[in-house]
Amino acid sequence: MKERILTGDRPTGPLHLGHYVGSLQQRVRLQQTHDQTILVADLQALTDNGQNPKKISDNILNVVADYLAVGIDPTQTTICLQSALPALSELTMYYSNLVSIARLERNPTVKHEIHYRGFGRTIPAGFLTYPISQAADITAFRATQVPVGDDQLPMIEQTNEIVRRLNSIVGAPVLCECQAMLSHFPRLPGIDGRAKMSKSMGTAITLGATENQIRAAVKAMYTDPNHLRITDPGQIEGNVVFTYLDAFHPDAGFIEELKTHYRRGGLGDGQTKKILEDCLQSLLAPIREERQRLMQDKAMLIEVLRQGTEQANEVSQRLLLDVKRALGLSLF
Ligand code: ATP
Ligand code: MG
Repeated sequence: MKERILTGDRPTGPLHLGHYVGSLQQRVRLQQTHDQTILVADLQALTDNGQNPKKISDNILNVVADYLAVGIDPTQTTICLQSALPALSELTMYYSNLVSIARLERNPTVKHEIHYRGFGRTIPAGFLTYPISQAADITAFRATQVPVGDDQLPMIEQTNEIVRRLNSIVGAPVLCECQAMLSHFPRLPGIDGRAKMSKSMGTAITLGATENQIRAAVKAMYTDPNHLRITDPGQIEGNVVFTYLDAFHPDAGFIEELKTHYRRGGLGDGQTKKILEDCLQSLLAPIREERQRLMQDKAMLIEVLRQGTEQANEVSQRLLLDVKRALGLSLF
């Protein structure tokens, strides 16, 4: 039996380079050896976009097109839609009774997001509890591996706490524990060098970015503020151009030489940015073209999602039934 994987993305916007290095590249590789399900997490996206559901519904097909454009193959991977999988919402209700508010408030990623979004006491209840619904997503597919960026590590920890609690209450291993699979680049910073690249923070280069958008983003990238003249020695640490070169340039040896030169002085930010821009243009051009082609056939994208969701419904309903039986809630 193949090992099971569950991952997902919030349709809060088209996917970006952070998703590419943090998770998508791994998923393309893993689909050949694992039983992989990918969830378009529209319910989770609504937890901080409740006032703007159109933003979420508009982005569902964008995300599906991104998956296919980078090479996720729907004959190997099940691509499904969270809001069309009622078992996930039901499981969330059961798990909600096993997690305290204090525990939810301690989750460092949620804490950071609450602060960034300026929620204070106006935080939507659904937002505070989204790690519970994420536990429902992961366990519903009996996933043991979860390829994610490092912002998701606290969610995996919380999921495993729920798994252990439920299993100990019912006295049987109904739910599976899971582990995070971090990529070689688990956190790509935004182009401003702060926090992680994120759709919601406007610091992203999307997979469908145009040539001009890529050029403008690289131009605006944070470098070393003390590297004023080309002859000045430059600093690599915290210099986003080098972080991205490490993440995306295929020739690591060349990048090491470039770093030595930059540190010594004599290499301008214009030159390093040009190298990065060329590299990103050639990485993204084929993805953008494929994405454009796919977006012209929305009926096909919907069909991919419909078929995947049908399969995912069968799997998740089975797990829900196991949980209800274990809780003694299956009289009829
Ligand atoms: P939002 O700002 O709406 O939360 P996001 O950009 O954080 O969007 P998500 O849909 O929340 O994207 O994340 C989907 C997956 O991509 C998660 O596994 C997450 O860890 C990973 N990921 C997101 N951003 C990055 C990043 N900058 N570097 C590495 N992985 C990332
Ligand atoms: Mg996020």
